[in-house]
Amino acid sequence: MRIPADLTRIDNQVHAWLPVFPGTWGMANCVLIASGTDALLVDTPYTAPLTTALTAAAHRVLPPGVAISTVVTTHANGDHSYGAGLFPAAEVISTDANLTHLCSEPTPSQLQALLDRCQAAEPFDRYLLWHFGRYDFTGLELTPPTRTFSSRLDLRIGSLDVHLIEVGPAHTAGDLIVHVPSSGVVCAGDTLFVGDVPVHWAGPLSGVIDACQTILDLDPRIVVPGHGPLVGQKEVAHYMDYVRELLDRSHTLHSQGACLDAASHTLLEEHRRPDLGLPERIAVLAAMEYRHLNNAADPLQLVEILSSAIRLAPGRCQTPYRRGTASSRPSTA
Ligand SMILES: [Zn+2]
Repeated sequence: MRIPADLTRIDNQVHAWLPVFPGTWGMANCVLIASGTDALLVDTPYTAPLTTALTAAAHRVLPPGVAISTVVTTHANGDHSYGAGLFPAAEVISTDANLTHLCSEPTPSQLQALLDRCQAAEPFDRYLLWHFGRYDFTGLELTPPTRTFSSRLDLRIGSLDVHLIEVGPAHTAGDLIVHVPSSGVVCAGDTLFVGDVPVHWAGPLSGVIDACQTILDLDPRIVVPGHGPLVGQKEVAHYMDYVRELLDRSHTLHSQGACLDAASHTLLEEHRRPDLGLPERIAVLAAMEYRHLNNAADPLQLVEILSSAIRLAPGRCQTPYRRGTASSRPSTA
């Protein structure tokens, strides 16, 4: 696995860092928006080495002396926010709801400790090691935004208008999207996944569909998903159809009295999209949607839900991997 050495040019002002590796967790896209002496980064990578690689790539397209002075975090998950602390001079902007969510996210050191305790004999641990063992979370701290907003915030970056639009709750409680009207670009964060079955933690799925409709209403030329390659409006519409199908089926199963395990199993059996990686995430989506249908007040139990997803899709458990051990698992280097 080779992370991209360079940014992908969308136009003179907008470049994307696209570590596109279907079937993996944590390799999220970032977008550099620059004009004049201003530079804004949408999302930061999961680890310090990945952030260093992104920063080096950004400096190859920025004019000499121009630094990233603004970081926008689309949501609080670590694969989009952990690297923010490596931009100490930057203003970090996100929504009020994302700031609240950040307080309940595991810190990088907690995540590292969890991985270090994993036993390869346990299916859940094996899954974590396979998908997250490649990452080194040392040298990072949770970094709260220095500026927050609700609903909408309009920024000026050099000569560019940049609009931050809150669309959560959808993937998480406080998702925002970033619109650069003059470029016809929308950064969707994790309201949009391309190439993998999506995972959504807050929901409901109708919120994800509404967020995507907000993206389409902006009539974008290019949409940057949270994970996966650049797409256009057609792909966003297809994704919405897929999410709507999952919504409809989970509501039908719920109304028929199917328990969550049975519904997840049925949805996995019915899955007809071999082109999408990580099908076990369907069980997470079902759990999230059932939580809303049951008006459950308690938060989604991530470990429990992911464990049941792994149990229901045993064929997805992969060879154990530990950083620094001999393995066929690709590295991020
Ligand atoms: Zn993500």
